[in-house]
Amino acid sequence: MKFGTKAIHAGVEPDPTTGAIMTPIYQTSTYVQRSPGDHKGYEYSRTHNPTRTQLQNALAALENGKHGLCFASGMAAIDAVIKLLAPGDEVISTNDLYGGSYRIFTKIFQNYGIKFHFTNMADLSKVEALVNENTKMIWVETPTNPLLNIIDIKGCAEIAKKHNLLLVADNTFATPYLQTPLDLGADIVMHSLTKYMGGHSDVVMGALIVNNDDLHERLAFIQNACGGTPGPQDCFLILRGLKTLHLRMERHCQNGRKIAEYLKNHPKVEKVFWPGFEDHNNHNVAKEQMNDFGGMISFVLIGDKVEDATHVLEKLKYFALAESLGGVESLCGHPATMTHASIPREERMKAGLSDSLIRLSVGVEDAEDLIADLEQAIG
Ligand SMILES: *Cc1c(COP(=O)(O)O)cnc(C)c1O
Repeated sequence: MKFGTKAIHAGVEPDPTTGAIMTPIYQTSTYVQRSPGDHKGYEYSRTHNPTRTQLQNALAALENGKHGLCFASGMAAIDAVIKLLAPGDEVISTNDLYGGSYRIFTKIFQNYGIKFHFTNMADLSKVEALVNENTKMIWVETPTNPLLNIIDIKGCAEIAKKHNLLLVADNTFATPYLQTPLDLGADIVMHSLTKYMGGHSDVVMGALIVNNDDLHERLAFIQNACGGTPGPQDCFLILRGLKTLHLRMERHCQNGRKIAEYLKNHPKVEKVFWPGFEDHNNHNVAKEQMNDFGGMISFVLIGDKVEDATHVLEKLKYFALAESLGGVESLCGHPATMTHASIPREERMKAGLSDSLIRLSVGVEDAEDLIADLEQAIG
């Protein structure tokens, strides 16, 4: 099956009781047993729910994985992954990580004795230099947020295999339409389904996808034991969103390219961060591991003044000023005060995330209107 066919059909069966083509919302917490232990595979909805099961299967199919697991948010999925570790274990990750991931690592799990190292993972020699006998995991996010750095997943997988580490890839920005990390050697794919996968800015949810049966069993145990599971209504909304993932992503990518090129030629724009440019430092890796370059773009205005960035953000009309990304509508944001406010300024500067950086999540509107909006706002 090709990707678009998979997005619509894979992992999802008509409802066995009625033939309903769309997965029903099984709004139930429990399931009646004929005699003790004699049930139809469902006992309690924290553990299993038929709407969630279909979504988990669909996600596994899209990521070319064997097992999917859904969580109440992307953060709950991350929480479950780190609970595979024990005090004394160490994790290597990127220094321009999603702010919420940085926060849970440093403000929650560091208190439980797990140690996190952050480095510029675009340079793989820096990753290998941090490996020691306590290292258990490499955590990759690519493209990174908000600087659109590209990390070589295959290269990380080689380091992980060599030192017997788990490789986790946060695939929220790319989605399986653009890259499938399990095929490149990752052990766990993590998603915030809130973003492109749901695609309509109407639900918060997360997921993990794996191939290894033992790893699946350990993560399913954590999912049930800790209980960060989503409700069936939200699972239904993600199932509905997935059916147009390929159509939306195609347009996100087309619009992203047009807007990145428009910004690059704008006399008031200093720098544009987008992996599709040939002069992007890891463009060749992006071309190798991704099918296209996505609709996320960041840019800095000439002069790097916060007031100028604020002025643009206030004037934009179609790009709504809001947190989040990946919906059908275009959004703009100011990482230094919004998504990345939990990262100390000094750390932000080290990663190259300047005070006036503007991030765009380019939606699926008509590119001409989006460009006209940027034109009137940047002036
Ligand atoms: C949003 C996001 C998360 C967290 O997901 P939630 O659904 O908001 O909990 C993790 N990683 C990335 C890259 C994200 O964009």
